[in-house]
Amino acid sequence: MLDSKLLKMLVCPVCRNGLDFKHGQLRCRNAACGATYTINEDIPIMIPSHKLTSDLELTWERWERSYSHASLAVDLEHDRGLQDSNRFIRQYANSRKKGIYFEAGCGLAKNALLLARDGFTVVGLDICIGALKKAKEIFQREGQRGFFVCGDMNCMPFRDDLFGTIYAGGSIEHFSDTLSSVKELHRVLAKNSILIATVPLVSLSTLTYGQLSGNIPDVPFLRQLAEFIQIRLFKKRLMIYGYEKSFTIRKIYNIFQKAGFSEIEYGPYHTHWEIKFFRNNYVKRIIRRISRCRPFWPFIYILAEK
Ligand SMILES: [Zn+2]
Repeated sequence: MLDSKLLKMLVCPVCRNGLDFKHGQLRCRNAACGATYTINEDIPIMIPSHKLTSDLELTWERWERSYSHASLAVDLEHDRGLQDSNRFIRQYANSRKKGIYFEAGCGLAKNALLLARDGFTVVGLDICIGALKKAKEIFQREGQRGFFVCGDMNCMPFRDDLFGTIYAGGSIEHFSDTLSSVKELHRVLAKNSILIATVPLVSLSTLTYGQLSGNIPDVPFLRQLAEFIQIRLFKKRLMIYGYEKSFTIRKIYNIFQKAGFSEIEYGPYHTHWEIKFFRNNYVKRIIRRISRCRPFWPFIYILAEK
């Protein structure tokens, strides 16, 4: 089955026409398009049938594997990353209107769950169906309602001007064409609403430690060099987060401006940094402390208003 409330939000990601739910699948109303989409355990699979780009394929494969052994527990007390993102989102999520909260690249959707508890209608999109099934299970256990859609952030299956708040935490860096995904986020965001995003920053952290996890700095020459090293020489072995870029402040600012956002604000995003490469806690503590100095900031936040 498909909830009628969710059906009203969806469009065909290929031609953006409406969809009909018939015989257990979604069919594009545009006869010239004729696309159909299956539904897997109430989750519509809205990935167009064209071949996925290699960057998205890699990201998909790596995250699907990582989510396959992720914990279903929502432990706000001990999950430092979740504490930071939840605190951050709540500063800006539009609690006055309680419009639809949308998480782009939601994974297990634990932030969405915390907002659903507060009465928000929540929608999560991810390319990983395994993660979405787990997210659904978490919501069911917690007695909350959430809508999940499997799709590509570069051609999202949602109506224009739909969402009251969008959170894209650590997701837009996973495409080689960043502008197209940010344009899509702009399209589905309601007017006078805010997009909250976090991305890796080109800094002494991402240029050193970040290279151990295959980060690609989105800077002319460096990008080509890093792609050659990571993809050709190391055969993607180090790219544990899939295809992942870091940006200069100027670059990411320009992308948001080109995508049509009117007001753009940014700053350091201080969060508990998962440091996988080193096991020693002392080394981890030193890296985390260094990352608080300006030349080493690993992440920035962007708040962008439509
Ligand atoms: Zn269509």
